[in-house]
Amino acid sequence: MTDYSAIKAELLAKQEELSDRLQETQATEGHEVEEGLDPNAQLWEVSEVRDGLDDEAATELNQVNEALSRLDAGEYGYCKSCGNQIGSARLEAMHYATLCIDCAESAEDNRDLEGFDPDEY
Ligand SMILES: [Zn+2]
Repeated sequence: MTDYSAIKAELLAKQEELSDRLQETQATEGHEVEEGLDPNAQLWEVSEVRDGLDDEAATELNQVNEALSRLDAGEYGYCKSCGNQIGSARLEAMHYATLCIDCAESAEDNRDLEGFDPDEY
């Protein structure tokens, strides 16, 4: 059995970091709504950039959460699609990979997986 404790520790750290970031962003956004009459247009540009980052962080947090629950369920490291083991090199490069390389490649062909970037490993 593969020991994923190092990956789990990293996932937990990532989870905390992302939650913090999202909470901060949300807190700041709430403030900006109150100050909505501020004529400083730059504020809005910054806010738009942050919205994009926010989405990314939320998506990543979902992936991290999913990976952690798969770890707890003992499903981590197995391909969601075919059930084969995902190579540990691939998991180390992409902690929340849920597909083996073969399935990931065919998913990429189908463009099914939003946000999946096969160039990352
Ligand atoms: Zn597979």
